[in-house]
Amino acid sequence: MQIINTITDMHAWTAQARVQGHTVGLVPTMGCLHNGHTELFKEARKNNSRVVASIFVNPLQFRQDAYEKYPRRLDADIQIAESFGLDAVFAPSTAEMYPHAPSTDWLFTLHDDPSYPRHQTKFVSHHIGQDNATNYIRVPSRLVMKMDGQKHPWHFDGVATVVNQLFNIINPHRAYFGQKDIQQIAILQAMNDWNESTIDLVEVPIVRDTDGLALSSRLVLLNDAERSIVIEVTKRIAQHATVSSANTQANTQANTQHAQALIKDLQSDIQSIQTHENTLVIDSIECVNPATLEPVDAIEDATILFVAYLINGIRLTETRPFA
Ligand code: AMP
Repeated sequence: MQIINTITDMHAWTAQARVQGHTVGLVPTMGCLHNGHTELFKEARKNNSRVVASIFVNPLQFRQDAYEKYPRRLDADIQIAESFGLDAVFAPSTAEMYPHAPSTDWLFTLHDDPSYPRHQTKFVSHHIGQDNATNYIRVPSRLVMKMDGQKHPWHFDGVATVVNQLFNIINPHRAYFGQKDIQQIAILQAMNDWNESTIDLVEVPIVRDTDGLALSSRLVLLNDAERSIVIEVTKRIAQHATVSSANTQANTQANTQHAQALIKDLQSDIQSIQTHENTLVIDSIECVNPATLEPVDAIEDATILFVAYLINGIRLTETRPFA
């Protein structure tokens, strides 16, 4: 397995793979790999003769403190990637990905800069840096001012910017993303359509631990007490999604689940888990259509229940399809 750190070498690798007639699958990650990531590797391995994972903690999608706290363990990640038969890992530095940026700190200020406005319905690409080296992507409000994006829309601008850049550097045939991040998938699919890209986005179902938690690199930040609370929150969310699912199947007027009623019930159910020692704050609970991300009034089979919350300041999300 090759470990590649520069854009020039990555370009050369992908160009050679294409010349040799290979199909290239890309799995973008921020590292600290777990079984959720490796499920993406397995999927990519099935359908591509060359697979590369990127490992890059992207400052553009974080606030500084969260960026600094984000877990990193590149050496262990490289071993995991190798054990899953990957052909290459692309692990660039921040300076390599954002060569124009005077510092990483400057990247944290970008999203507040009014010279890079957002459009209501269209993606906008702003050329930034000394030699216009980076396309800073603003995701349209219609997609970003929803769910997880409402509190920090710039997060998805950072995701779109880095994925756009990875696509330009690697030019894969297929790229793999987890359904754990449903808003991310909807935004990247829309960006792909806007770019008229031929890269196929492949969605991979959520991988959960035996205790029901969706695997996430952030889970290593939790202590035992916090983890127990998160397990309980996840259970309550699953119960609400299941009860509603049964009711939608009954399909009677009396049983029709109204999203607002469910959200209210779930909110008080989650709040009741709070303990004196641990602060649990609900950021948002929504029932949405997975493609448009629009909130729904009545829950249907394809509806997604989405919850974002903070346990002692650590932000987690939970995504549950009702069907
Ligand atoms: P991250 O390293 O957190 O940016 O995640 C990289 C990719 O792995 C994203 O497409 C995530 O949606 C996906 N992913 C992370 N956790 C899981 C999981 N538990 N199940 C499925 N996909 C996941």
